[in-house]
Amino acid sequence: MSEDLVTFLHARLDEEADLARLCDGDGRAEWTAHGHTVDLCQGELSGLHPAIALHVALHDPARILREVEAKRRVLARHVLSPATGDPELPWDNRDDCQYDGETWPCDDLLDLASPYGDHPDYPDVPEMDSGLRDSP
Ligand SMILES: [Zn+2]
Repeated sequence: MSEDLVTFLHARLDEEADLARLCDGDGRAEWTAHGHTVDLCQGELSGLHPAIALHVALHDPARILREVEAKRRVLARHVLSPATGDPELPWDNRDDCQYDGETWPCDDLLDLASPYGDHPDYPDVPEMDSGLRDSP
């Protein structure tokens, strides 16, 4: 189940990166808002409320690709340290995260997954049965 969460997260990040690359045009896309209009480098979106224009511009492909790479680095750090077969048994003989020692899946992975809670492939994670996690 916990590896399902990692697989699920990689799939979502792959989708986001693929979509960003499709929208990237020349590979240097930086979307910018100008009042009611967003310059998409390959065209414009106009007639938007200025706040919506700023919100759309915030999701320019270059920034999304940087965000995906940052999330991939977080995923790479937080790997399963299984209780069985691990030469250095985790504390309390339970599956835990090799990076932070928290019970697997750790809070950082659950936080990475939380924006996708409404995705149809979202894995069943006991800690997130309600679909929402308690805020700190
Ligand atoms: Zn962790």
